[in-house]
Amino acid sequence: MAKQEIILKGLPASGGIAIGPAYVYEREEVFVTERILSDSELATELHLLDEAMERSRHQLRKITSFAHEKLDEDAAQIFEGQLMMIDDPEMRKALEQRLAREKKNADFLIYDELQKYRAMLNHNTDELLRERMVDIDEVGQRIIRNLQKKRLHSTVESEHVIFANQLTPSDTILFSKNDVLGYATDLGGITSHAAILSRSLKIPAVTALHTITEHVHTGDEVIIDGQRGLIIVNPSDEHLQEYRRKIERIERLERELKDLVDLPCVTPDEHKVELSANAEFINELEYVITQGSKGIGLYRTEHLYIEKGDFPSEQEQYIEYSEIAHMMYPQPVIFRTFDIGGDKLLEAGVLESNPFLGWRGIRMMLDKREIFRQQLRALLRASRMKNIKIMFPMISGVAELQEVLDLLDDVREELRAQDIPFDASMDIGLMIEVPSAVFVADELAQRVDFFSIGTNDLVQYLMAVDRNNELIADLYQEFHPAVLRAIKTTIDTGHRHDIWVGMCGEMAGNPLATVLLLGLGLDEFSMVPSVIPEVKKIVRSTTHEEARRVAAEVLMKSNARDINTYLTDYMQRRHPELFANMLNGENGAENE
Ligand code: PEP
Ligand code: MG
Repeated sequence: MAKQEIILKGLPASGGIAIGPAYVYEREEVFVTERILSDSELATELHLLDEAMERSRHQLRKITSFAHEKLDEDAAQIFEGQLMMIDDPEMRKALEQRLAREKKNADFLIYDELQKYRAMLNHNTDELLRERMVDIDEVGQRIIRNLQKKRLHSTVESEHVIFANQLTPSDTILFSKNDVLGYATDLGGITSHAAILSRSLKIPAVTALHTITEHVHTGDEVIIDGQRGLIIVNPSDEHLQEYRRKIERIERLERELKDLVDLPCVTPDEHKVELSANAEFINELEYVITQGSKGIGLYRTEHLYIEKGDFPSEQEQYIEYSEIAHMMYPQPVIFRTFDIGGDKLLEAGVLESNPFLGWRGIRMMLDKREIFRQQLRALLRASRMKNIKIMFPMISGVAELQEVLDLLDDVREELRAQDIPFDASMDIGLMIEVPSAVFVADELAQRVDFFSIGTNDLVQYLMAVDRNNELIADLYQEFHPAVLRAIKTTIDTGHRHDIWVGMCGEMAGNPLATVLLLGLGLDEFSMVPSVIPEVKKIVRSTTHEEARRVAAEVLMKSNARDINTYLTDYMQRRHPELFANMLNGENGAENE
């Protein structure tokens, strides 16, 4: 008799689909018993602890170097973080002091320390912090295992979908050596390190399945759908066929999209637009280039501040900006000046009841003039190859823009006086993301070389919908007529003043919006690099005339739902293969 099909829904942690046998992985737990040591045992215990820490360090170094070979820099940092925990002299000191004071065995003391952390983090409402417990646990358990001279047998069957209660970062990377097909876990969120690593390794993963390990046995046939967060155990023939077709379709589309990388982004009736990438880390740039991007449309510089926990010096910035400009040359890079505040980190001690409407972006920089000057100096100094542009976030009106431009002039003068070369004809632009800027776009356009529409914030401010609040996520509507009219006004106004208009908010990378934005006359689309080929495919197969017709029809509609339905139908008719992919992907129209 056919086994019963079971479908479970979890969180989509890493995209991709796979079909294959399951392997249920059970980690050997470490057990610790509390012992009181005699005075004569204390020195030996401390020595054994040091040995175990050294062994753990050695094991982690091996994993870290493998991670550096296999993963991007950010993902590999996860293991550097674990190494730092072992190297932390405070931890060693605390254990030594407890050993001398309490005279208890070292593995118990580590276990006890872990319990303390666990209790502390369990009550924390920050999911990200709670996820970090897995790393702390992994380091602690590694040292305990080494103290007990036990080895972890963490091998799994190759070409299987791995099922586990929870996976640690090391499990995730070490299992990947065995060509695993996917990861499915009872616990863990999409921000867990195991999830981040799965995405970096491009292995499908579904987390937060709660009881999946009770429903699946090693050898069961399973489908893992990492795009929708689904696990199908013992799939029916219909599901198997459906998913085999999906896999074929995705593979075909990927092949097709790869062929587009070197082709220009031009419509069949010769209307050309630029597709560029949003980036914030230097190590993303290689990928950006392979996706066929025509430069960086938004480089979020605030990550330098976030990583350092403080403002970087002019020289540090100059080095980073020069390197980026060099890597992308001759393609342009648009650096956005620090956009700190809002959800992007507040300075210690600054408490605002409404940070998104508070001391954020250009407002903060105009108050921190010396820091702002340093950033402008660093950017200008790095502009010698003439492929840098600067844009300012959160500009709300002419006076504010003028203040920024005056400061920029000042900095230019200072550099000239010091005989420091820079690109004197560098393009300067601003983000249109505060609604008031839309209404004074006429005056703003006379003072800059380009606009870049930041829909992430523009939608939130226009609609009074916090972009991070799940309770009202359905009110956050990119296709609301008010948003579309604001976009149209911005583009038309820019063009009237002969400046180009781009978009660097998420909407620019939503394939459902591509034809509409093309029809509204957008000149540049800047997006997460992975969607560039899809957007390019749409542009290359839509005449500008057709896009203008679509835009005109959309602009006549009075609500977001009708616009969404219209664009979904259009996409389904004109690009069925891309549409099917979207349904499975992060841009899923079905989530709208
Ligand atoms: C935006 O607001 O659309 C934007 C691109 O900037 P950020 O998401 O960094 O606020
Ligand atoms: Mg913004």
